Amino acid sequence: MSALRHIRSELNGPGLAQELSARTIEAQIGHTPLLAFKNITAHLPEDVMIFAKAEWANPGGSVKDRAAYEIVLQAEQDGKLGPGVTLMDSTSGNTGIAYAMLGAARGFKVKLFMPANASPERIAILKAYGVEIELTDPLEGSDGAIRAVRELAEREPEKYFYANQYNNPANWQAHYKTTGVEIWEQTGHRITHFVAGLGTTGTLMGTGRRLRDYNPNIEIISAQPDSAFNGIEGWKHIETAIKPGIYDEAFADRNLAISTEATYEMARRLAREEGYLVGISAAAAMVAALQVANELAEAHKPGVVVTLFPDNAYKYLSESFWQEQA
Ligand code: PMP
Repeated sequence: MSALRHIRSELNGPGLAQELSARTIEAQIGHTPLLAFKNITAHLPEDVMIFAKAEWANPGGSVKDRAAYEIVLQAEQDGKLGPGVTLMDSTSGNTGIAYAMLGAARGFKVKLFMPANASPERIAILKAYGVEIELTDPLEGSDGAIRAVRELAEREPEKYFYANQYNNPANWQAHYKTTGVEIWEQTGHRITHFVAGLGTTGTLMGTGRRLRDYNPNIEIISAQPDSAFNGIEGWKHIETAIKPGIYDEAFADRNLAISTEATYEMARRLAREEGYLVGISAAAAMVAALQVANELAEAHKPGVVVTLFPDNAYKYLSESFWQEQA
């Protein structure tokens, strides 16, 4: 007898319902591990620590499961999404993968807009989930995809639910409800600095707000690429991009500019010195977190610096920087 059949025969009524609802794919979102480091942080004094949330542990493989799930739940509750309605959005991939997973599990269709230069691995994953994909002009970057989805949403509003991750408060609220709470608990309330990269800015805004509610002295640090032309997939150069509606520029205490070169080197180091095969934006987040920790050490101040690793490297392995030695 299968484990589930066994459970079915053992339990009945509310016991069975509870057991099954804890085994859904949605119930596996969040509660991700908090990772420590052995070698990359070895030069730091004992009272300066760095930790990172392993967001690839989400069932869709990235942090975006959290935001997509909250967006979907709120839309379902408001009657905007359900069978017969197609969810659509612009996404560089991870949010799309999360929508695709949730659409399959909950019974709605998904249509995604992304620049034609999105990584082939991501496009293949989305096709595997069976979603519809519209590729936009790569020269326009994510802004081109945003414009295209807005146009269709305006033309056929009754057929589509435009999830609008850049402007939908459910995006940051997901992190307020989950990521911020988890980090607070997992650090035993000792976090002093939170570092997050900026894409839609949902991670920074939601996690940051929750942490500040717990302790207003926690420093919130945002990080972005140091130029509009960069290889940090998932991050935005906020100064030159369409500003996400959910972003408050005055929110973070500091903003760090991270170079692509330092990011690639950190990606190799995380893989080769720690065993963490992380995505590019995760490596960039680690560069920023290490900069914050180094500054604390130089100032002889203690600190618990926490960042977030949005995904692992599997979708980026075709990038040539992995082949370099150092
Ligand atoms: N890294 C990766 C790999 C991502 O897909 C995203 C989302 N675009 C981010 C970082 C940024 O997260 P957020 O949208 O919450 O700012």
